[in-house]
Amino acid sequence: MEPFAALLLVQDHDRTLDQMRHRHATLPEREMVSAAESVLAALAAEEAEVLAPLSELARTQQRLEDEAQGLQAQADAAHAKLYSGEVTAIKELQALQADVEMLRRHQGEVEEQALLVMEEREPFDAEVARIAAARDVATADLATATDALARAVAAVDAEIAAETAVRDAAAADVDAGLLALYERCRSASAYRVGVAKLVGHTCQGCHLTIPAIEADALRTAAAGTVAHCDNCGAILVP
Ligand SMILES: [Zn+2]
Repeated sequence: MEPFAALLLVQDHDRTLDQMRHRHATLPEREMVSAAESVLAALAAEEAEVLAPLSELARTQQRLEDEAQGLQAQADAAHAKLYSGEVTAIKELQALQADVEMLRRHQGEVEEQALLVMEEREPFDAEVARIAAARDVATADLATATDALARAVAAVDAEIAAETAVRDAAAADVDAGLLALYERCRSASAYRVGVAKLVGHTCQGCHLTIPAIEADALRTAAAGTVAHCDNCGAILVP
């Protein structure tokens, strides 16, 4: 095969590979994964906001419940002592009776406060439950998106591997020095073009015209003469 023709073929494959890599980098499944991750991050932030006041209320509730329990134990002890027969003096018995009543009343008040705190907790508890349910959904969405992404990546990877094999086979037909020159030109080119056909006076790499005298000189030059487009740097193929 004519060396430049083989090089043009290599570039066709390189273009296809570029498109495949671009597709690999911009798979819509990546959006799905990051969308699910964003939802989870937002839920974690919402939960943190709810958990702070909730744990404060839970601590208060626990403290009140412990206090009520302590008062109940004291009242029970006083009550037991009252009917134990140990105390016989009437004044002492009356005082003990008053203690029991006072302790029971205080216990009732503290239990009432604990109930109020429990009511205060309810909207926060509901919010935590809502967030947990939303997180279950988002976690499932993330798993689905991650699976879909893995499958899509594997599919494009396989396409890239197959195309790379075909590209490398085509590149084997090109002189190593010319191939290296092409690769340098292509990686330096804003157009990602390392070799381009010259049609009339127009470089097909950048679609700009080159001076007629240069185009004509290239057409009459010996086969294999290497000339570059002044604009995009591509190796020109007359
Ligand atoms: Zn050009």
